Amino acid sequence: MGILANKTAIVTGASSGIGYEAAKLFASEGANVVVVARRGEKLDRLVSEIVAAGGKAIALVGDVKNESVAKKAVELAKEHFGGLDIAFNNAGTLGAMGDLADVTAEGWKDTIDTNLTSAFFCAKHQLPALVKSGSASLIFTSSFVGHSIGLPGMAAYATSKAGLVGLARTLAAEYSAKGVRVNALMPGGTDTEMGEAATSSPEARAFVEGIHAMKRLALPGEIAKAALFLASDASSFVTGSTFFVDGGV
Ligand code: NDP
Repeated sequence: MGILANKTAIVTGASSGIGYEAAKLFASEGANVVVVARRGEKLDRLVSEIVAAGGKAIALVGDVKNESVAKKAVELAKEHFGGLDIAFNNAGTLGAMGDLADVTAEGWKDTIDTNLTSAFFCAKHQLPALVKSGSASLIFTSSFVGHSIGLPGMAAYATSKAGLVGLARTLAAEYSAKGVRVNALMPGGTDTEMGEAATSSPEARAFVEGIHAMKRLALPGEIAKAALFLASDASSFVTGSTFFVDGGV
């Protein structure tokens, strides 16, 4: 019996990186998982891996900018697995990068919609089911960027990620006594598709590695392990936190 036995989780941004590793880890610890992203073939591969290992998973292909996707994920969790106990709202994009003077209104809106408004949609539809669970965990993937440090060219991204901290703290104040712990997970630089995009030149890579006391980026599995801690009863007195897994930024 794993530490998430008899639990059901939604993981958004599960087609690659941190979400992919977290979905596999949650399932290996006994959770049923609903995995969400736009790239269906990658989700299918993930579901196959989980099922082959004896777990249970279903895929929902969709864009988290659409409220209907948040609603559908909860419906699938209830219909296939009988409820919802864990929501790892992790989907994100670097979005509109560059000097703020060059960022368009559309680019800014798309970044905020993908990283922050999606979390509002998810939480809004997940919270009633999480309250029914009685012992639930709601996690948002924020970032060291915009909290621990400001990095040039990342204004839209940093703003969206800082917003998630406010959302997590507020929901923790509102829902912790109702059995839903709410936390913001704060990864440092992580070797994923996004991590590669943010460090595309050797100079950029060296700069980002150098920000961390450990002088390297995280592996996505290292961040997934922290998500597992926040998802499980091992963190039963952790709520409203900004939970840093950042190699010492
Ligand atoms: P990846 O690029 O590997 O993963 C991003 C995930 O988000 C993918 O599964 C992608 O799926 C999904 N996604 C993006 N946009 C949408 C959308 N509109 N609708 C649905 N799903 C979407 O990077 P990471 O694993 O690193 O990113 C995971 C989270 O970690 C993000 O929120 C990121 O901001 C955060 N983070 C990352 C850091 C890093 O250095 N890598 C550092 C700190 C935080 P698909 O494209 O299939 O839709």
